[in-house]
Amino acid sequence: MATTPFTTVPWNGHVGAASFTFDDAMDDQIKNLTPILEELTDVRVTFFLSNMGGNRLTATGAGFAKLAKMGNEIGNHTDGHLQLPDQSDDKLKTEITDFADQIEKVMADNGAEVNVTAVATPYCNNNEKVSAEIDKRQFINRDCGWHGRNDWDTEPKWLGMASRVWNSSETATAELLSALDTAAYIGDFGAANPWEVQVKGGSWLVLLNHGVSDEGGMSITPADIKSAFKRALENNLWTAPFSTVGAYHRAHFTLDKAEAIKDGEGYKVSWELPHQHMPKSIPLKVKLTDDFLKEAGFTTNDNIVLVQGGKEIAPDAQGNYTLEFTALSATIRKASTLGLGTPRQNKQPRENTQASNKIYDLNGKHLKQNRDVHVIKVFGK
Ligand SMILES: [Zn+2]
Repeated sequence: MATTPFTTVPWNGHVGAASFTFDDAMDDQIKNLTPILEELTDVRVTFFLSNMGGNRLTATGAGFAKLAKMGNEIGNHTDGHLQLPDQSDDKLKTEITDFADQIEKVMADNGAEVNVTAVATPYCNNNEKVSAEIDKRQFINRDCGWHGRNDWDTEPKWLGMASRVWNSSETATAELLSALDTAAYIGDFGAANPWEVQVKGGSWLVLLNHGVSDEGGMSITPADIKSAFKRALENNLWTAPFSTVGAYHRAHFTLDKAEAIKDGEGYKVSWELPHQHMPKSIPLKVKLTDDFLKEAGFTTNDNIVLVQGGKEIAPDAQGNYTLEFTALSATIRKASTLGLGTPRQNKQPRENTQASNKIYDLNGKHLKQNRDVHVIKVFGK
């Protein structure tokens, strides 16, 4: 059977996505963002740590470890924050690869299990040699760029992802809110620049921020960042870390091409990881294609389930299944008769768009219970 059975639901079921990233391991990020993120539990962000000045990492380790334990991502902004294209191969290794190990160690010393999967190049200066070093240890890199938006159907340059740089100015906050509207495709774009409307539908906006304080400079005020977070949620953007959204986006280009092979009573689908250094868990919300269901002779009354690690995964009210991409295979079959084959209508899943804003940490720990997805957990990994 050459039919592709899966279509990944864009942006985890949201209109689009927004990843807020904060660079340079600044003290005011810890001080001012921790209480906001404690309050807005549907927002999780990325902190790109650097060791600028020689002891930045140890000085801020406890604060960022706490943020990591809340489900925020810790990424790699290099040891010395240098112009990477000017460095030797050996120096690139210590700046990027060795520093990723060091970040994980300092986080572990502070009680946080962190898996560094993303880099942000200092000054957004990148070249082939720099990208090659990043690729040895991480699957994604954030550079600067223009509008910072990514279309669902277009595979981006994973080691040179564009981001929209937030700069402090009188109009910066209004521009930030407008960027979040544009990502969600809300509003009237009749008079906008062409690049503002080039994405037809919801897109993923990557934002680059620095300080979070009332003291000016390259900072956004805590009140403004909080209103930006809230705007992202109001616009139904999946407001999740850079690696989380990036891994979901990257995985779909693989999964949606995977083909089904007849296997006993069902069909087996296998695929490979597109990169060895992705998050340890990548839950994907998928639908079964009509072509597949037809070719397999399955009907809507068949109570089709996915099976991974011996566990059956039933669909939610919208017919979406949440599969674990890193399990690298799934079987599609009729539900077994041992209690899991209860007709879908008897499960009465509740419609709840907020609940679909599912946040996992990068080790796959479910940080927020999602009531409308029936995942029977435990993947044999
Ligand atoms: Zn920086």
